[in-house]
Amino acid sequence: MRIFDLNGRSYIDASGGAAVSCLGHSNERILAAMEVQSRKLAYCHNSFLGSESSERLAQKLLEHAPDGFGDGRVAFVSSGSEAMEVALKLARQYHVERGDEGRSHFISRAFSYHGNTLGALSVGGHLQRKRIYEPLLRPAQLIGRCYYYRDHWVGEDPEVYGRRMASELQDALQRLGPESVAAFVAEPVAGATLGSVPPPPGYFREIRRICDEAGILFIADEIMCGMGRCGSMFAIQDEGAVPDIITCAKGLGAGYQPIAATMIRQSVAEQIENGSGRLANGHTYMGHPVACAAALAAVTEIEALLPHVQTLGADLERRLRRVFGDHAHIGDIRGRGLFWTLELVDDRDSKTPFSRDLKVAERLKDEAMRLGLIVYLSSGCADGEEGDHVLLAPPFICSSSELDEIVTTLSKAIENVLTSRKFDE
Ligand code: PLP
Repeated sequence: MRIFDLNGRSYIDASGGAAVSCLGHSNERILAAMEVQSRKLAYCHNSFLGSESSERLAQKLLEHAPDGFGDGRVAFVSSGSEAMEVALKLARQYHVERGDEGRSHFISRAFSYHGNTLGALSVGGHLQRKRIYEPLLRPAQLIGRCYYYRDHWVGEDPEVYGRRMASELQDALQRLGPESVAAFVAEPVAGATLGSVPPPPGYFREIRRICDEAGILFIADEIMCGMGRCGSMFAIQDEGAVPDIITCAKGLGAGYQPIAATMIRQSVAEQIENGSGRLANGHTYMGHPVACAAALAAVTEIEALLPHVQTLGADLERRLRRVFGDHAHIGDIRGRGLFWTLELVDDRDSKTPFSRDLKVAERLKDEAMRLGLIVYLSSGCADGEEGDHVLLAPPFICSSSELDEIVTTLSKAIENVLTSRKFDE
């Protein structure tokens, strides 16, 4: 889990880049699987031929998916954004094939991130990444971001808060007219924008109920939180709700190959199979054999490491709470599995974020790197501009002593930034 730069400096990679390298950077079994597949068949277009690696990978993912996905289908593309485009188009295709052509709207959540292509940006709520493209987008209706730390009412417990947030889906459906809506899109554990926010208990069960009632699909974007990151192969498995479409990427190829997947459950697949019989959408590198071989080897490794992710995740949580639990400038510690976030605040009681002018996220990223630590820093979680958080997504091969090194170095980096002279001015 270490990277060395040109000068021989070593960095401990505690975020796998953007929560990608979940198996470290030198997994021999994945490298060997890629070599074998490259020699056998480096590329084929999936309108001519399939490949054994893509078939086996699809099978494996469906085996792990929630009930209802058993005889589903999987499309493989090259990035999370593409997987989201496939998901949105599939939702539309599903309704068209049912003769329900009026369904074209999407509902998603404020402060979500679903990718950087125009369709994915349209359903996302990441203000900083969307802003200049607004005129090109067909924005989704956004409902509450489901961020208990900042948004719950005084005395409101998490379950009641979750029900209130889910009821916003009902309100949005009424505003748009339920018969015009194709799907609701959400990250089961919110990632890039808010920083590993798990849902309140019961929230996704209620979301599922509302989607069923309105005849809309539920798309779970597991691009960041899936593939074992939260301790289960799919994060939604812990929520007692089965989505219609799941997207995954990042950890799927573990950084060895660019690959993403869009999975559909059996009932959605059957509708299309009994209709046009094919996915209406296509890309040149769909089902790329070498990418699928790398992912097949990666998922096999992840399967074996899931118990370790759960144990190590609990260890990481304990360490974070011990070191930062009483810290005057850490407002919230949240996460699941090996996906944890510290939210930095100027004032802990009022949850006031640091002024953006102080550039806390940028400075902490630089300071951590100076100390040899790679962590994922973002700003904007409070109001779209302010609110700094640091996300940890260490690889599943991490040891207890490496966790110790990560938490100790992060603590040092935070202290150095908060006590620096520039900061005092
Ligand atoms: N969806 C989520 C939840 C993500 O976190 C990301 C990337 O961070 C994407 C979609 C887009 O994936 P990519 O950057 O591979 O296009």
